[in-house]
Amino acid sequence: MTKKVVIVGGGGAGDAAAFALRKRGFDGDISILSADRDRPYDRPYLSKEFLRGEVELQKVFLHEEADYQSQKIELRLEQVVAGGSLSERRLRLVTGEEIPFDVLVLGLGGTPRRLPGIPDANNVLTLRSLRDSQALRQALQRASRVMLIGAGFIGAEVAASSRQLGKEVLIVEQAPVPLDAALGRDVGEMYAAIHRSKGVDVRAGTTVEKWHTYGSRVVGATLSDGKREDADLVIVAIGITPNLDLPRALGLPIEGSGVVVDSGLRATGGVYVGGDVALHHHPVFGRAIRVEHWEVAKWHGRGIAAAIAEGDGSFNRLPYFWSDQYDVSLEYRGNASGQDKAVWRGDREGLHFSVFYLRDGLVEAVLSMNDSKTNELGGKLIESRRRVDESSLASPDADLAGLVPAARS
Ligand SMILES: Cc1cc2nc3c(=O)[nH]c(=O)nc-3n(C[C@H](O)[C@H](O)[C@H](O)COP(=O)(O)OP(=O)(O)OC[C@H]3O[C@@H](n4cnc5c(N)ncnc54)[C@H](O)[C@@H]3O)c2cc1C
Repeated sequence: MTKKVVIVGGGGAGDAAAFALRKRGFDGDISILSADRDRPYDRPYLSKEFLRGEVELQKVFLHEEADYQSQKIELRLEQVVAGGSLSERRLRLVTGEEIPFDVLVLGLGGTPRRLPGIPDANNVLTLRSLRDSQALRQALQRASRVMLIGAGFIGAEVAASSRQLGKEVLIVEQAPVPLDAALGRDVGEMYAAIHRSKGVDVRAGTTVEKWHTYGSRVVGATLSDGKREDADLVIVAIGITPNLDLPRALGLPIEGSGVVVDSGLRATGGVYVGGDVALHHHPVFGRAIRVEHWEVAKWHGRGIAAAIAEGDGSFNRLPYFWSDQYDVSLEYRGNASGQDKAVWRGDREGLHFSVFYLRDGLVEAVLSMNDSKTNELGGKLIESRRRVDESSLASPDADLAGLVPAARS
């Protein structure tokens, strides 16, 4: 019988694992060790409602402080775990303190990448933590022209929020369109058009050639299109580096940028890994995937809790995420790349459509703009792992629900 579960990381995966363990009746000790200065919070708010000042701080936290006490979850903040020994079942904090465990859960997230060559100036910010969002929120109040480096999801959302706050916004993105790698050229172009229609200056296929500084501040940049642009706030949003120092120090299996876990999110006996750092052998896709999204991290946490409380199993929930920019809601289920074949269905002009991403005739993912119903049905098509007829997917007259049982036959 497991007595003590130690969770490293107080983010989406770690917090969900702790509470789900109690929900499943686990009555041993549970500790969360988190490097963060704040108790676990809802990260997606940080680039949207919280950044714009539309929700209060209290709403951003995942649980009240009292919930940790009532659920007997020990939450230790500002604790960085540096290493330890899996065979001796103990962790070592940077302070030298040793923490024993029976079962270990890692949900370590990532660290924003820094742009090579960018000056270390006090108006160049990145966004990952609650404190980052608070600092950015303050900086935005003083700023009038914001330069966003990178138009991935976080960059695009911060651009939208900054614009909604009435700031002038310039996006510098080296890919040909925003969100190119994740969603492909056509959807990326659509996003570029949406941002431009709101007054954002989107420079795709562009990089910074030279930074201009005055004292301790960046005041602008010369871009690869030859133009010099002023800015009084620079936000770098070029992705994260998954936090793998601890898994490395513990000798866990690492491939590329993730910790290798089996279909049940297990790295080795009694050690589970979820969220952004997990390279999960997904049973539906039959391949290893690593996903940097909130719902995935939370569901990994719950899946890990189920494995600890009830015995190892297989975690087969499809990845799912959403992104809100202005009044446009995007939902995405599955796992594909922007390079996969895209089959469109619905009203493109009216921004009410879905895109199915196919590989070798199988639906790998479905993206929907303001079209939730199709997104849910698309999920069933993905799970069926049967080939579907592209023209039926594309045709607005074809009954999508009808394809689901047919695909299963
Ligand atoms: C601003 C922003 C907006 C986002 N919006 C969306 C969205 O709209 N939709 C969506 O699907 N996804 C969104 N995401 C992504 C989503 O938040 C992440 O995928 C998710 O938080 C990953 O959860 P995690 O548990 O893996 O890591 P995290 O939530 O990052 O938590 C990691 C935790 O581990 C701790 N930690 C790391 N190393 C150590 C160590 N050695 N010792 C102790 N503690 C350690 C950290 O301090 C942190 O508490 C957003 C992310 C950001 C930053």
